[in-house]
Amino acid sequence: MSVVNLALSIEAPDLDEWSSWSAFESLAVQMTKELAGVALAEALDELQARLVDSVCGPKWAPLRGLPAPFACPGCGAGADFARKGRRTRPRRFDTAAGRVEVRLWHVGCRACGKVFAPLLVMLDLSQRRRTDRLSLDLAELASQMSFQRSSATAVMLSARRATAGGAHRAVADIAGMLAPDGRVGPGADRADVVILDGTGVRAGRLRLGADCNLAIGLVGRSGRATRRRAHAVLLGLTIGERWGAMAGQLAALPPPRVVVVDGEEAVSVLAERAWPGVPQQRCWWHLCRGFRWALYADKAPSPWANEKRAELVELLRDAIRWERTGEEALRLYDAFVDTVRAAGHHAAVSLLEVARPQTFTCLDPNLRRDLAYLGGPELGSGVIERAMRDINARVDIGGSRWTLGGIRDVITILAARRFHHPAWEAVNRALRPTNNIPFRLAKFNAG
Ligand SMILES: [Zn+2]
Repeated sequence: MSVVNLALSIEAPDLDEWSSWSAFESLAVQMTKELAGVALAEALDELQARLVDSVCGPKWAPLRGLPAPFACPGCGAGADFARKGRRTRPRRFDTAAGRVEVRLWHVGCRACGKVFAPLLVMLDLSQRRRTDRLSLDLAELASQMSFQRSSATAVMLSARRATAGGAHRAVADIAGMLAPDGRVGPGADRADVVILDGTGVRAGRLRLGADCNLAIGLVGRSGRATRRRAHAVLLGLTIGERWGAMAGQLAALPPPRVVVVDGEEAVSVLAERAWPGVPQQRCWWHLCRGFRWALYADKAPSPWANEKRAELVELLRDAIRWERTGEEALRLYDAFVDTVRAAGHHAAVSLLEVARPQTFTCLDPNLRRDLAYLGGPELGSGVIERAMRDINARVDIGGSRWTLGGIRDVITILAARRFHHPAWEAVNRALRPTNNIPFRLAKFNAG
């Protein structure tokens, strides 16, 4: 272990009646932007010099045949390197802590003649100008806001160098790490509740856009048995493909207790094909939303339609709140449908009738008992609703039209991050490890 000492000097103005806190605060903010990169560059400079000394011998007395902790990138030799000096032009790296400029030391391999910088070889930085951690920071921001804003935010929060184009490339790089073959894969081995849901996104060449389809599982959060709550995991994701394309990602999963479907026929077909005989529950959030759209198509007066939607939401919630049996719930549901039929709204009535057999699957007493640890199967609606809102909020920014590849990358990151996918957690652990290198600031001119 080496100790590298650096001195920090602040030419602080004397405190007087003109002193302002803001001036000192600006000093501190500026230091957060510059200090880390400069300190790291100086430390690396010192470490390189010591490394070259130990591998090549002192400058005035070069030694032959010394072993090195690195291998020659030309021939693989692990010993006998000659000093080739320090480059005057610094090598720049854009990092999560701002720009780091390092003057590289070079050595030459006596076996093959290759000249290279050991620092780049040892830290695996040879082909890079931007570090993976900076890419991860940018990609994480860009999954929540526009490329333009994410780069501006990165620059403002620290001295990170970033442009909208850089954020765009970062998203592609990180998505490639999360899903090397284009698919993130199931984030859990099994889930008792699987929710299949899709939304339309503006991407690709089709006028109506592309389908973004998600498979989400509810699993028990580990922890105290009395405080267990549903925890959502990402099981599958496709963009610009039909529902059938999800089959491969779901094939590895054992049958769940219930599948929550959004009402689209292709979803129910996929679920039945993947897990024959597993009961399906119609997603209540989609049902209420679809009902409101149907009333719009029926040209129902808006205030009345809103009231009816609210009434449907309450009716569904009450079924849980009052622990109704399936039969009781359906009787109330039918009475509700009658009020819509009496007003002559055909599209809305037909939607409710088609949904009817799957509306109260979750009231089945066996299912409720088995899924009590998740807080009930119907909770999936909220999870899906929030996920879809996030996806749409991100991809609708600026009204731009995406390429399929571009939107797949950004949604992959958004979903992997949001649902704590194991691939996301692994990338985080690898690129953002806890710092184990101690440092301290000491006061020199004390007294
Ligand atoms: Zn060599």
